[in-house]
Amino acid sequence: MKIKVLPDTVINQIAAGEVVERPASVVRELVDNAIDAGATDIFVALEGGGHSRLKVRDNGCGMSKDEAILAFERHATSKVSAIEDLSSLATLGFRGEALASIAAVSKIQLKTRERESEIGTQVTFKGGKLTDVRAVPWNAGTEIEVEHLFFNTPARRKFLKSPRSEVARIRTWLAHSGLARPSVRYRLVSDGDEVLHLHPADSIAERAKSIFSSDLITISLVEGGVSIEGMVSHPGAALSDGSGFVILVNGRLVTDKLILKAAREGYDSMLKDREYPVGYISLTLPSDHVDVNVHPQKSEVRFRHPQQVFALVQGAVTRGVRAIRGPVDMRPREAPSFFGQTSSSLAMRYEPAPSYDNSSVAPALPTPRGLFDTAEYRGESSRAAVREVFSGYSEGDSGSKFTSNPSVNFKFAELRYVGQVLECYLVCELGERLVVVDMHAAHERVNYNKIRRARAERSLSTQKLLIPETVRLTEEQVVQLMEQEDLLRELGFEISPVSAETVSVKGVPAVTAHLDCVALLKECAAEPLASGWRDRLEERIDHIAARVACHASVRSGDLLNKPEVYALFEQLDEAEASGACPHGRPVVTEFSREAVERWFGRDR
Ligand code: ADP
Ligand code: MG
Repeated sequence: MKIKVLPDTVINQIAAGEVVERPASVVRELVDNAIDAGATDIFVALEGGGHSRLKVRDNGCGMSKDEAILAFERHATSKVSAIEDLSSLATLGFRGEALASIAAVSKIQLKTRERESEIGTQVTFKGGKLTDVRAVPWNAGTEIEVEHLFFNTPARRKFLKSPRSEVARIRTWLAHSGLARPSVRYRLVSDGDEVLHLHPADSIAERAKSIFSSDLITISLVEGGVSIEGMVSHPGAALSDGSGFVILVNGRLVTDKLILKAAREGYDSMLKDREYPVGYISLTLPSDHVDVNVHPQKSEVRFRHPQQVFALVQGAVTRGVRAIRGPVDMRPREAPSFFGQTSSSLAMRYEPAPSYDNSSVAPALPTPRGLFDTAEYRGESSRAAVREVFSGYSEGDSGSKFTSNPSVNFKFAELRYVGQVLECYLVCELGERLVVVDMHAAHERVNYNKIRRARAERSLSTQKLLIPETVRLTEEQVVQLMEQEDLLRELGFEISPVSAETVSVKGVPAVTAHLDCVALLKECAAEPLASGWRDRLEERIDHIAARVACHASVRSGDLLNKPEVYALFEQLDEAEASGACPHGRPVVTEFSREAVERWFGRDR
């Protein structure tokens, strides 16, 4: 074996493997640079999902001619000069390898001008080699155009995703990172169509309104030098992955399992195993409490006190979720408006124009707007090209009326109860609205809260049975059940084994006194226990509490009389999280007069 030192071009190509995986990662690096340069207006254009060409233009500080060339050197950065700088970093970039890496695997052209300079500079690199430098007239700021991405790394090129999914990814990333910089204007044009336009906003919360469509509950918390700001969805709007939950740490968009988990746990029993909330958490903490240099794409961070962060996030989310009262966005779970590529009506509404298929469907058509024409870049695109995909679309058309915070001022006791329909729904009127309450979900919430409170106070009372009830189970189930004896006692059960296959129930939780405890015990017994189950005791208790609450609640088909209904409403008004049942389903939904009139064509 012969050892040799690799030439820079090869080093950069290798580094590029970590830094630039795909067009989306190029956009990410270039947009981060624009932010670091102090830009307030960022324009991104893609051709063929960025595979053929992509461009990022900003109105930031620009670069001198020398800097413009130096910027492409590996480890050339204006952002840090010593390792200590990392602990007080105010910029997104710091590794000085993005431009070098991108340049190594593409053809790249940069145009830039510093504000105080009279003339701009244009530099061109191909495969990492400087091929041209010249003076050009240019606006203050920088534009970088990347062509032929991975032209010299065919293996990488093969792994590129479809242009369509790349556009979706870039759009989502831009919107998410735009949350961290609400005052910055972001635009994204794909094959001539504007697919994202985030207007400057005064706050993260305001920008969030243009990004998230479902009802969100505001959360905030300041404690021990950490501040948390965010918005979380009703559990009913949960997604099957974490893609709808945006995490910002000191203004940096990151993926963080810890925070996502903390947020999920903040929901208590309300999210199922594979459900994740929608919303965002923006965490601000002293910069020396977080290490940003743990990932080549800077998309992960490490906390100095992860437990503290976990507890704070969980606590903040819990508080937010408890404030969920009243009717909420009834959009179906699997049809998020903005996130993912599932086909929701909303997604379809802003699906990029058929221009995607222009080449195959109508090859003879000339491209209506030059993708890379200057007018487009300056944002002077024709109105037809401008689709305000976000503004106002949270005024959904599903019939429910959305407010940004469903927790405010909703009082069940103010409802005028009309009657019970379809066995389970309480139809009511409130002002100009038709309100429907799921009586089972409502009762379940009330019971669950009662049980939780009693358990917290260690006063969950047991009702002794006059005649102990014998439950037949399998041998294994008896073992399982007896293993949970302590836990069950905490919940109000008193059980003892009678034989290998039977247990005797001598007492049951008072709240469940009137229901079929046998079925409940069988259910618990059938649930396998993981070996480390003691650690998850709390969680299990909550789940069992939810189950007890469920069994103890009025069922579909039970008939409630008026006083019972109003008693339930009063209890709901006193309950935390009365907008959702312990499993996360909505308790109440409403329809505006307009929505009802639309059912009957009266709106025409
Ligand atoms: P890093 O961002 O880690 O410093 P990059 O390779 O991304 O490394 O960029 C190298 C340097 O080029 C930056 O430190 C910055 O000085 C300069 N630079 C890059 N993009 C821009 C831009 N859009 N505007 C002004 N300067 C830029
Ligand atoms: Mg950078």
